Amino acid sequence: MAREQKLPRPARSDAALAKRAGELVDTYLDGRRYPSSIRWVSTMRTRWASCTPSDGTIRMSVRLASMPPWVLDYVLVHELAHLRVAGHDERFWALVNRYPRCERARGYLDGVSAAAPLPIAPDLEDDMSDDDCAAAADQRPANGSSSSVA
Ligand SMILES: [Zn+2]
Repeated sequence: MAREQKLPRPARSDAALAKRAGELVDTYLDGRRYPSSIRWVSTMRTRWASCTPSDGTIRMSVRLASMPPWVLDYVLVHELAHLRVAGHDERFWALVNRYPRCERARGYLDGVSAAAPLPIAPDLEDDMSDDDCAAAADQRPANGSSSSVA
């Protein structure tokens, strides 16, 4: 009872999340690399998601569960791409931008962040839990440039 989480959609279980992640890896990330563990967490208040590339784990905020599927997919692709590229460099964005609704999803999340009672960093830029990766997270391309969308 204490661990009960009010997920708006019952289908959005950890198992469903893992299944969707696998589909997205196959579709956008060349079938590499699958997370060792991916799950919903209710404890993140200032992050949408976090990733630990060294052990392949991904955690997703339950707040994403009530958002449109294409927003959830964007965050999943973002985190899954970190399993291959730890920082937010050009190689990383080249992978993420394979997902066709990146700009739209970023805009959606920016809007939610702006209205949130607690600040949430734009575009998941603090989602890396490894110290090495946190340093790399400062590198960020100009948000407006969508020329690299594949
Ligand atoms: Zn990130």
